[in-house]
Amino acid sequence: MRVIVDWELCESNALCMAAAPEVFEVRDDDRLYVLVEEPGEELRSKVELAVRSCPMTALSIAG
Ligand code: SF4
Repeated sequence: MRVIVDWELCESNALCMAAAPEVFEVRDDDRLYVLVEEPGEELRSKVELAVRSCPMTALSIAG
């Protein structure tokens, strides 16, 4: 699976990081970093939760 971020929509509020800290990290510079662009299947439920958690609907999954 591939994580897709719509950077136009992302507000760096870190709700995705709360859901899947292995994949998403908002750093001190107030920007979101995707730590793993193609997470393994073991992270799918967390990434799906992150997608649902994003209030800006900035996240999606391909594959
Ligand atoms: S939850 Fe959405 S808006 Fe917030 S940091 Fe993650 S991708 Fe960006």
